[in-house]
Amino acid sequence: MHLQLLRNVTRVSEVAGRQGPLESLLHERLLYPVFQPIVQLGNASIYAHEALIRGPQGTALHTPDALLRAAAQEHLSYEFEIACLEAAMQTWGQLRVAGRLFVNISAMALTQLFALRGREALLGLIAGFGVVPRMLVLEITEHERVEDMDHLAQVVSEVRSAGVALALDDFGDGRSSLRLWSQLKPELVKIDKYFTRNISEHGDKLKTIQALQQIAEIFGTQLVAEGIETPEDLRVLRDLGITYGQGYFLGHPDRKPLKYLGVDALRVLRERQVAVFPELTRSTPGGHLRSLSLVRAPTVGLDTSNDELASIFLDMPDLHAVALVNTERPVAIINRVQFMNEYTKLYYREVWGRKSCAVHANFEPRIIERDHSVDELVGILTSQDQRYLSDGFIATENGRYAGLGTGDQLVRSVTEVRIEAARHANPLTFLPGNIPISQHIERLLKKKARFVACYADLNHFKPFNDHYGYWRGDEMIRLVAKIAMEQCDPQWDFLGHVGGDDFILLFQSPDWQLRCERLVVEFAARAEAMFDEDARRQGGIQAEDRHGVSRFFPCTTLSIGAVVIDGSQFSRAEDVANLAASAKHDAKQSGGGVFERVTPVSTQV
Ligand code: C2E
Ligand code: MG
Ligand code: MG
Repeated sequence: MHLQLLRNVTRVSEVAGRQGPLESLLHERLLYPVFQPIVQLGNASIYAHEALIRGPQGTALHTPDALLRAAAQEHLSYEFEIACLEAAMQTWGQLRVAGRLFVNISAMALTQLFALRGREALLGLIAGFGVVPRMLVLEITEHERVEDMDHLAQVVSEVRSAGVALALDDFGDGRSSLRLWSQLKPELVKIDKYFTRNISEHGDKLKTIQALQQIAEIFGTQLVAEGIETPEDLRVLRDLGITYGQGYFLGHPDRKPLKYLGVDALRVLRERQVAVFPELTRSTPGGHLRSLSLVRAPTVGLDTSNDELASIFLDMPDLHAVALVNTERPVAIINRVQFMNEYTKLYYREVWGRKSCAVHANFEPRIIERDHSVDELVGILTSQDQRYLSDGFIATENGRYAGLGTGDQLVRSVTEVRIEAARHANPLTFLPGNIPISQHIERLLKKKARFVACYADLNHFKPFNDHYGYWRGDEMIRLVAKIAMEQCDPQWDFLGHVGGDDFILLFQSPDWQLRCERLVVEFAARAEAMFDEDARRQGGIQAEDRHGVSRFFPCTTLSIGAVVIDGSQFSRAEDVANLAASAKHDAKQSGGGVFERVTPVSTQV
């Protein structure tokens, strides 16, 4: 078999007239494989090794990238790849290591190998090196360059009929083909390191991998996450339920296959804690005006008289306004109440009845394109100009009149979209809202983790809000979020914003108590600075209570109710949240600070 290869090489060198550096390497058989472990994340066992080719150490042709480049330059790509395959299998056969062997081969080399040698010869080659076909996995590289997919699928199915498994390498790199995944139905797909690197910090990468997991389920494929370099990334991938992992943190490529997983990797894979998943970087909450019902009201023009307009209003008693339109484009709005007040005045009709209604028009109407994002509409609601409340607004489609809307419809629709969005992320603090909070509790319970559920809430916040206004109130809520975030270890501790001044903290850090106490103290100090000097001196403000009675309220502080949860004792996230909420109630009753509600479970996390 090696002779065949040499014959090919000689032929090429004869044509070229001289021997290239790669050609010499092949002749002298200086290529050798290193092996990198592929680990089963669920049980921390070494599932397989991937063979990676190396040229002589200390030379320009040491790395596979340099070798592959040289091979292409010397028109020896096929010969080189087959030499890699042979070197990998020969060394593996000699080492007699347990577990599977993954070898890299480009789709092109595989089809060429098959065309030249056929199925039986290929299997003979594998067996000749003492490798059991069932323990061999072919990693198809450069699959994006496949031209004839059907042919590749045919070759692959022949190879697989002998028990050899198939993997798609570096999926997600370049233009990996989903069609190839669907057509070849490989046993394994290796996700490119781009998606695993820093996954613990990037919600979008996490979501991408979750999407790939769904595809993998459809096609019955197991996933391998490549390029795991840190314990943080490993934790996230482990908790996502990715079957296999590979990367420097689990084991470097080495001439000797790895027998036992390193202690650091073992420790991470055996942890009982749950990694906090990164949130998606928030984009503006979706939703636009299509959901808003519009009134298809008649319009008027510059030549419409006051009498004509009055008859429109009389015919349609619910119409709050009409739009003044000039060649389909709205230019002004006329408010019903204002118009009718004038129109019904004595002698008005006689003097002004046949004149243009434009005198009553507001030529700066609120015009909203139908596909405006709700976020833009919020700008209208919070602007100085509050005329939309009486005049409503004109809706347009591509600049053309589409109908009228009322102010309260606008407020309602914006609020609905915002409430829905806030269930995912609070718009004020951008912290996860109720849905991700529940999801995180569910993950903790599923893994039967021990954690502490804390519910934090402000004391005497309403008087502050009433006294200094919503703007400063919002600032105070953001302050809680900021300090709470500082007190959380982002790897282990989850911070969510239920709404208003209510926050949930789910601690896995063992020093949670200390963190909560620091949060309370730090908040009290920084919140006090938000009061004016007089209030600070007096230790609070005079404000109305819920019954409208004026009384003295101390400066705002924080109460935290805490419950230690043994994940094996609960199955519903709701029960945990309720327990934490009632612990908060106890905390408030006992005058603020951190209050731990004792459950039958021990307080050790
Ligand atoms: P690949 O098959 O995706 O192999 C994984 C590459 O990622 C290897 O680089 C490996 O050393 C590296 N790697 C593993 N863990 C980590 C990590 O945690 N972080 C980072 N940054 N890198 C990690 P290597 O050995 O340089 O191989 C590069 C590529 O060369 C391979 O990518 C494969 O496409 C090709 N290659 C390697 N050996 C062979 C071979 O024998 N035959 C063929 N046809 N191609 C090969
Ligand atoms: Mg590979
Ligand atoms: Mg790869």
